[in-house]
This record gives sequence, structure tokens and C-alpha cells, in this order.
Amino acid sequence: MSKRVLFLFNPRSGKGKIKENLADIIDVMVKAGYEVMVYTTQSAGDAVQKARTEAGNYDRIICSGGDGTLDEVVTGVMASGISVPIGYIPAGSTNDFGNSLGIGSDMVQAAHIAAEGKPFPCDVGKFNEDYFVYVAAFGIFTEVSYQTSQDLKNMLGHAAYILEGAKQIWDIPSYRMQVEYDGNVLYDEFIYGMVTNSMSVGGFKGIIPGNIALDDGVFEVTLIKTPKNPIELNDIVCFLTGISKDSNQVYSFQTNFLKLTSSEDVSWTLDGEYGGNHHLVAISNCKQEMEIIVE
Ligand SMILES: [Mg+2]
Repeated sequence: MSKRVLFLFNPRSGKGKIKENLADIIDVMVKAGYEVMVYTTQSAGDAVQKARTEAGNYDRIICSGGDGTLDEVVTGVMASGISVPIGYIPAGSTNDFGNSLGIGSDMVQAAHIAAEGKPFPCDVGKFNEDYFVYVAAFGIFTEVSYQTSQDLKNMLGHAAYILEGAKQIWDIPSYRMQVEYDGNVLYDEFIYGMVTNSMSVGGFKGIIPGNIALDDGVFEVTLIKTPKNPIELNDIVCFLTGISKDSNQVYSFQTNFLKLTSSEDVSWTLDGEYGGNHHLVAISNCKQEMEIIVE
């Protein structure tokens, strides 16, 4: 019996970049010995349903699109409770997670990895009842990101620009939160927070501290405090633009579980897509629970 692959892609990701490569990508899968079922995603959330209901029928699921497409496939597979290896052919304009895995932006090369590579047991984030692959975030910059474009390109650069342009500090949206992790409790006001499992976010490499591994069972957490004066604001801008390596305005730590509580609803993004409004968020690391295909 031949191996079966579900090849699921978003035809519109990266300005339709896949169209030029589609025949070559499918040919790579056929030559690797797969019987290929092709599915084009029809709307937001479609890939979640498809991956969830079809996970048990295939030896491998290969997806192509931006981070949002990968997020949907991983969410669907995790929700199915069935373990099936996932190959990823990035088509977005930033490729933080792919780069972290050694998957570049050449789509045919990525197809070779997806079809011929080996499963790598990778951590995945559980966010209340939802899942994320490499970044869950809230705050000023996230809203900019998903309102203006679907990818994370220059997200933090844009954030620094907005902060610099803020005429009055009190114009910056701020969220009072209680953050609990590993027996610690922080109670503070934040303009931004992110929980990541990636070497870079929004194309930025420097701002995530410590030893990063995608299968170590912990996330890196970065929380930026609300600036109270222009000096603190400048401190944050310097940190975001990489001028300074650390900041008194920033909490950084690693953990496998954290809980964030606020009195008002806060808007979150998961892998750059809208993740809902929540006043209570529990994030846990599902250690090595998804299988991503790497070289
Ligand atoms: Mg990690």
C-alpha cells in the first residue's frame, strides 16, 4: 500500500506565491512515494476542521501557507488527539518558525524536507482550549499586526515606531494584569506581552533571551511594562529596536505554565492571527506533543 499525504494549502498566502511552484511541489511528494490528496483552504478556520477530521486518514499532512495556516493545521491535529507528522512549506513573507526549524523560504526545497524529512517531536502551546505553534501575544503591537496585515513582518519595528510617535504616554493602551508562574506572582501594567517558542519573532532575533530550544518543555515569556515617563518610553524603544540588550521595563523568564488574569477582556493573537478576547488565560507547554517534519 502506498503512503498517503494530505496536502493542504492556502492559495492566497504570500501573494499567491505557491502558484509558481505547485507542480514541482506535488511532483516532489509523488516521487517520495506518496499518493497525494490536495485541498485548498476555503476560509479562515477551514484548515482546523479539515486537519481535525482527516488526521487519522493520512500518514502525513503537509501544509503550505503563512504562520496562520500552520497554526490551523496544528490546532486541528492536536484537537483530533491523533498523532500525525506535519510538514510545513512556508509561503508567508516572514518565516520565524520555519527558520527556527531549518526550513527556508525556497518552497521546492521545503517540499523536499516535508516529503522526505524525519519527524521532530516539538513543543506546542495550549492556550485555554486553543493551541499555538510559536507565539501567543497581547497588546498594542498585536492589534497593529492583524489589523493591517496577516503576517508578523516588522511587527516590533512598527511597534517601536508607534511608541516613538505617541505624543502622550497615556495614549498607549495598557493592561493591568496578574501573572502567575512557578510560584511567582507579578501584578503590573503592561503594554505588550508575548509567550514564544521560536528563535525569532517578527523577524527580530535579539529580544528573546536565554537558551532557546523548541523541544525543551518551556516557553520564553517577555512582558513590557507600561512606561510612566519619557525616559521609560525611550528605554522600551531602545530595547525593541535592539539598541539596548535589556531593559528595566521588561520582564523576561522561562516557564512551562503561566496564568494571566485581568479585570477587562484583553485581545490576543496566536501565531499572528486573532486569538479572541480573554480576561483569564492559562498557557501550558505540551512538551514534544506535535511532530514537525525537519531535514
Ligand atoms: Mg522552548
